[in-house]
Amino acid sequence: QAFRRKARELGVAYVADEVVSFDSGGVTLKQGGRLEARAVVLAAGPWSGAVAARSGIALPVEPRRRSVFVFDVREAPGLTPLTIDPSGTWFRPEGRFYIGGTTPVEGNDPAGAPLEVQHEEWDEMVWPAIAGRVPAFEAAKVVNSWAGHYEYNTFDQNGIVGRHPERENLIFATGFSGHGIQQSPAVGRAVAELIVHGSYRTLDLSPFGYERISAGRPIRELNVV
Ligand SMILES: Cc1cc2nc3c(=O)[nH]c(=O)nc-3n(C[C@H](O)[C@H](O)[C@H](O)COP(=O)(O)OP(=O)(O)OC[C@H]3O[C@@H](n4cnc5c(N)ncnc54)[C@H](O)[C@@H]3O)c2cc1C
Repeated sequence: QAFRRKARELGVAYVADEVVSFDSGGVTLKQGGRLEARAVVLAAGPWSGAVAARSGIALPVEPRRRSVFVFDVREAPGLTPLTIDPSGTWFRPEGRFYIGGTTPVEGNDPAGAPLEVQHEEWDEMVWPAIAGRVPAFEAAKVVNSWAGHYEYNTFDQNGIVGRHPERENLIFATGFSGHGIQQSPAVGRAVAELIVHGSYRTLDLSPFGYERISAGRPIRELNVV
């Protein structure tokens, strides 16, 4: 909301519609309109791969469901930073509660799964891992939960940022695989520099360009949770 407020203050116009496809001249909207644009930034999160496919571009980004569990304990364990267990289970404080989650097992992580919380992940994966690590969490009780889609880059689980090598007006900012909030200020600045100056000025994000995908050179992110 803060980013949106500031962007509006700086003159950004928000259009409530859906992009059906894009081409070298701009984007076509679902309600029939068209926006002409010299630069199009593809930042459609989990749906980026689908939007790209409708425009004839292969982009390995798809929605992958992740469940988050809010839990309470009888006695707080003291200082509890964000902690990631080697199994992939993680937890951290959230107000007077804690939240935690895990990565579904290989083979049980289909693209576009409905946003239904996978309670068996708590029973079989999250609780055993956190209770084994923090004695106070043995008494953890789930008080709330939700599910969301990661914008999962199936190629190397890292952001895809920068210009398409052939479609000059197309810029990617997607595929962050569940880490996009923390990376968004830097990515926003880098993409703005590409549009305004034609090149990166502060951070060189060229290693994260689309070219690595066509060249088969992954920069594998090993710390995806
Ligand atoms: C359970 C869960 C926990 C997470 N935890 C963290 C965390 O701790 N730290 C962190 O950094 N990140 C976390 N993330 C990831 C983070 O939410 C994403 O990386 C981030 O939101 C990506 O931002 P984005 O702007 O690229 O995409 P999104 O936030 O997904 O926004 C994409 C936007 O594009 C719009 N859109 C899609 N298709 C179209 C279309 N055809 N036309 C027009 N608009 C379209 C959507 O409506 C949406 O508004 C988590 C994600 C989940 C699901």
